[in-house]
Amino acid sequence: MRGFRERAEVADVEAMLLRRVAALAGETVETIGASGRILCERISSPVAVPAFDRSAMDGYALRGEETFGAEAYSPLRLRVIGESLPGRAFAGTVGAGETVRIMTGAPMPSGADAVLMAEDATVDGDHLDIAAPVPPKKNVSACGEDVRAGDVLLEAGRRLRPQDLGVLLSTGIAQVLVHRRPRVDILVTGNELLPAGAAPQGHRIVDANSPILQALVDRDGGEVVRRDIVADDLDTLRAAIRGCAGDAILVSGGSSVGKEDFVPQVVGELGELAVHGIAMRPSSPAGVGFIGGRPLFLLPGNPVSCLCAYDFFAGPSIRALGGRARDWPYRSIVLPLSRKIASESGRVDYARVRVVDGRVEPLMISGASILSSTTRADGFVIVPRDSEGFSADDQVTVHLYG
Ligand code: AMP
Ligand code: MG
Repeated sequence: MRGFRERAEVADVEAMLLRRVAALAGETVETIGASGRILCERISSPVAVPAFDRSAMDGYALRGEETFGAEAYSPLRLRVIGESLPGRAFAGTVGAGETVRIMTGAPMPSGADAVLMAEDATVDGDHLDIAAPVPPKKNVSACGEDVRAGDVLLEAGRRLRPQDLGVLLSTGIAQVLVHRRPRVDILVTGNELLPAGAAPQGHRIVDANSPILQALVDRDGGEVVRRDIVADDLDTLRAAIRGCAGDAILVSGGSSVGKEDFVPQVVGELGELAVHGIAMRPSSPAGVGFIGGRPLFLLPGNPVSCLCAYDFFAGPSIRALGGRARDWPYRSIVLPLSRKIASESGRVDYARVRVVDGRVEPLMISGASILSSTTRADGFVIVPRDSEGFSADDQVTVHLYG
C-alpha cells in the first residue's frame, strides 16, 4: 500500500470545479409541469393582465361622473339595461341614466367607468337608486393592473415556484426553457456490500451510501439514472464506469490507496484523474476525475466521508450542472461553542455538532465510519484549513442538516 504523497487543498479543488463544471444546456418543457425547474432565460410578458378593464366587485357598472351630487335625500335613479358576466361581456354601451349589473372579473361595458358595490345599491325593479357618488375608476381593475405588456416576470436562474407557473400561464406562456436536470450515475464498490433493503448477514454489510447519495442528488435537482453495487475487481469496475452515461458519476468506496482500491487507476485509464487525496477530515481519500468531459467524484466508502465529500464537491457541481447555486444547501446559524474543537492546521475539518440550549456542542471530528453521528448531530461546523480549531465560547457557524 502506498500513502498519499500530497493532498490537494479543498479550496483548490473547489476552484477547479468552478472552472470546469458549467450548467448544462436548456430544454423546453411545458410550463404546467415546470415547478422546481431552473429558468435558463429572463421572461417578459407578451401581454397585459388583465387584458381589459374588469370589475373588482359584484355590483353595477355606471358612469362615475353622473353620480356626483347624488345624496340620500336626492338619489340618482339609473335604469338597469343588462348584465356583464365573466367571459360574457355586455354587448351594448352604457349611456346617460343607465347602468349594467356586473360580476367580479367581468369586462367593464363600454361607456361605464366605475362600479357601485351591490351592497350599496338600492334596487327597485329595473331601476337603481344611488345615494352617494361613485367616482370614476372606483372598483375597476384596470387593464395591465397585474402585469403590463413587456414587464419582466422572472429572471434567469429562477427556481420556479408554483405561483410562477400561474403567472406565466396567465400571460399565455405555455412553454419555458429550463436547465436540463443532470443525470447522475451512482456506483458503490465493495465485495462486502448487500443491497439496501437487505438484512446484514455475517460479515457482509448493507450499502448505506447509495441511498444517501440518491437522496442528495434528488435534493440537488439531479436525476439518478443508475444505482449499482460493483465488485472490487478491476475489469468489473472498468466496465461499470465505461457504462455510465450520465452527466456526472458518483463512485463510492475503493478510492484510497489500498490493495482493492481500483477506482483511481480506472479513472486515470478511462479519462483524467484530476485530484486524488484532499487535505480534509473526514474524506481525505476523496478525488475528482473527468471522463469525456463529465465529472466523476471519488467518494470514500466510509459513510460519513462519503456524505462529506459529496457535500463539498459533488453536490455543488451537480447543482451547477442544473443551473443552481453552488452554495451550501443548509440553513446556517451562528452560536457560541460549549467546548473547544481541536483541529490541525493544514486541513479542513468537518465537525458534527449538536445545538443544545443555544450553544454548539461538538460530537465528532474523526469517526468516518460512525454514520449515526450525522443522525445525532443537528449539523456541522467547518474548521478552515489554517485554523487549529475553535475555543469554548467562540462564535461558530453551524450548517443545519434539517
Ligand atoms: P473503502 O473506501 O471501499 O475502503 O471503504 C471504507 C469502509 O467503508 C469499509 O469499512 C467499507 O466496508 C465501508 N463501506 C464502503 N462502502 C460502503 C457502503 N456503500 N455503505 C456502507 N459502508 C460502506
Ligand atoms: Mg471498499
